[in-house]
Amino acid sequence: MRLVMLGPPGAGKGTQAKRLAERLGVPHISTGDILRGAAAAGTALGKEARRFMDDGGLVPDPVMVGLVEERLAQADAGRGFILDGFPRTVGQAEALDELLTSRGRPLDAVLQIAVPRDELVRRLAGRRVCGDCGTLVQVAVEHSSANGSCDACGGPLLQRDDDRVETVGRRMEVYDRETEPLVGHYRTKGLLREVVGTGSRDEVFQRITGKLQ
Ligand code: AMP
Repeated sequence: MRLVMLGPPGAGKGTQAKRLAERLGVPHISTGDILRGAAAAGTALGKEARRFMDDGGLVPDPVMVGLVEERLAQADAGRGFILDGFPRTVGQAEALDELLTSRGRPLDAVLQIAVPRDELVRRLAGRRVCGDCGTLVQVAVEHSSANGSCDACGGPLLQRDDDRVETVGRRMEVYDRETEPLVGHYRTKGLLREVVGTGSRDEVFQRITGKLQ
């Protein structure tokens, strides 16, 4: 299965994509994770990406398209993939369509996870990631200054720089302007499946698997 997860920051794309990828036995390809890994490793890509990520902007299309093209050429993606965080612009979507069509392996579906804006902002304020194992957790907003430790491995729970309240507004604006038009792009192609992203993680997962049957 070749799938794109679409939705604003905080909609739950990463959490659901990871679980779905395990269920389907295909790689979960998160461009945000790849860029954060490159930034942490201090590579040239990471250094360039950081300039855009830190203030909630987008890394330029040619960089992102090259990165995804390279990742999709790896053997594990031959079985299928779940793309999370890519495409984010119409230019990226067109490049992806072209790449997959040229290989005779177009997308099977695009899942859009919809969550009301006030809930997205609340979720991002309480989102923490384990610095050791990468597990995502949600902390109560009233305690959002307390970081704590990861239940899975005991590692430190950290807030992503771009989840800070100053940056979240900019990321939402960028989503509305650059990424939301992809909903229409994929609807026209007959690929869009819409899922309500509120409720528990299990409920959302059930809805997603229901939509893919
Ligand atoms: P994410 O983890 O998907 O929220 O991505 C974190 C940040 O990485 C974004 O705010 C962008 O700065 C950058 N990024 C991730 N994916 C893309 C993409 N497809 N195009 C441009 N920038 C991206």
